[in-house]
This record gives sequence, C-alpha cells and structure tokens, in this order.
Amino acid sequence: MRLRFNGWVYGSAHPRRVDKRTLCSNEATGQIHHVRREQRDPLSIEKHTAENSLIAALPPRCRANVLRSCEQVELQLEEVLCEPGQRIRHVYFPIEGFVSLVAVLDDGGALEVGIIGREGMVGASVILGVDTLADRAVVQCAGAALRMSSASFRRLCARNMALRMRVGLYLYASMAQLAQVAACTGYHVVEARLVRWLLMSRDRAHKNEFHLTHEFLAYMLGVRRVGITEAATALQARGLITYNRGDITILDNAGLEKASCDCYERGNLIYDAAMGLSCARSAR
Ligand SMILES: [Zn+2]
Repeated sequence: MRLRFNGWVYGSAHPRRVDKRTLCSNEATGQIHHVRREQRDPLSIEKHTAENSLIAALPPRCRANVLRSCEQVELQLEEVLCEPGQRIRHVYFPIEGFVSLVAVLDDGGALEVGIIGREGMVGASVILGVDTLADRAVVQCAGAALRMSSASFRRLCARNMALRMRVGLYLYASMAQLAQVAACTGYHVVEARLVRWLLMSRDRAHKNEFHLTHEFLAYMLGVRRVGITEAATALQARGLITYNRGDITILDNAGLEKASCDCYERGNLIYDAAMGLSCARSAR
C-alpha cells in the first residue's frame, strides 16, 4: 500500500492489507485516503476519558458533554486527516499514537512542524473561526482517537468557557512549540534533532518502538536520507537505539534525553507552563 503526496510516497516499506471498501480517492489530487473503521462505543469512550489530556482536564460536566459528542475511531498509519487548505470536517483527540503536522511546499518538499498526541488535538483552530488547516495532518503512529464534527466542536466551544479556555491555551502552547522547533531546525545538528524527535514521539505514543523509513524521517527532519543514516548509526553505536529496516527501538531513555538538544525539555516546559501543569513529568 503506497500513498503518494506531491510526488513522494509514504509507506512503501510498511505494506498492510487494506479492504478496498475502506478506500476512497480525492478526485482533485488523485490521493488515496483510508476511511476509518468507526465504532460508537460509549463504554469504551468513557474508559478512555482520562487518556486525552485536554479532555481529562475539563470540569466533569463539560467533559461529559464533549464525550457525548465524540465517537471513537482507529487512526491508520499514514492516514491523511486533512490536507492544507481543506475544510476541517472533524477535530481529533488522539488517545494512542500521534499525528504529524507537515508543511508542504510547491516543489514537493515537506517538513514536519508539529506532533500531536494525547496531550492535544487536531483542528483546534476551529475555535478561532478558521475552518481549514494550513498544514497536512498525517497519522505517524496508529491508534485510537476520539473525534467530533467541527460543527459540534464549534457549538460546544461557544457554550462552554472551560473548553474554550483549555483549547485556547493549547493553541498558545502549540504556537510556542512551533517557534521552538523552527529555531531547532535552523541551529541544531541532525543527530540532536533526531533525538528530540524520537523523544517527542515516545512521549506521545507512550512506547519505545516506532516504525519509520529513512525516507520519511528525512522528510520529517528536513534533511537528506544520508544525514538520517549517519545520525541513526551514531545513536545505535552509542547503544541508545536500534534501527533496523525502519523499526526504531529506544534502548536507553535517560541516555537519549542527555543526547538531545535542550529544545526537547524547553518544549515540555512550554506546554506545562501554558497548560498550568507541574513541570515534574511522570517517570517513564
Ligand atoms: Zn534543538
């Protein structure tokens, strides 16, 4: 299964069987999108209440209203949730896995500018009256998420100050983290940036294993493949990770955190301060 975006192909090293009935194509772009297997399961949604931080932090009544408007979906690896300029039909609250925001250039180049996991949501700009995404939202690590229509989200935000404030703070944190990543991309070496990306992905996926191709990592970090090869090889030689045919396993979390540029910790502090959280992070 391959997905082609502006001339580049995702997923060539990670084939998966897909039922044809679950596919549809975008007539304008020719791109193929997975259609989520949806299931309404209120008990399951209730079970996951605390597993998206934005929802978990809401007052009980507001949280219940949000959950009532959500359905649980399974996000598929490399699934495109929204293209740049497309209308945001749904907002997503990841529970497992994470979604990348990718800035796409006219010449086919692309760079990841944000990662959204259970600490956040996709489509938060809807509360600003902006109903399109500036970047591509693509699933980097598969897993469950809660989603609701953007119309329902807009209505809930209009009626509920706590939700509006929480999402507004999250938007602020996201903008501040975006600036941090931009500075990191411009000033720090590939190896340190790869480490930062691995740590951010680990935190959002809540696991130490990922599957990513060199090609995709290069797009994520805005460097050539050879740069990723050298950085990953160096980290492997230091016993921090293993990398084999796109399977990355973190072996030494503490060592990896020491190997990162300080942008990783700064990013966490920005989020914690904006959301009013303690800076003490849970042990992993
Ligand atoms: Zn950095």
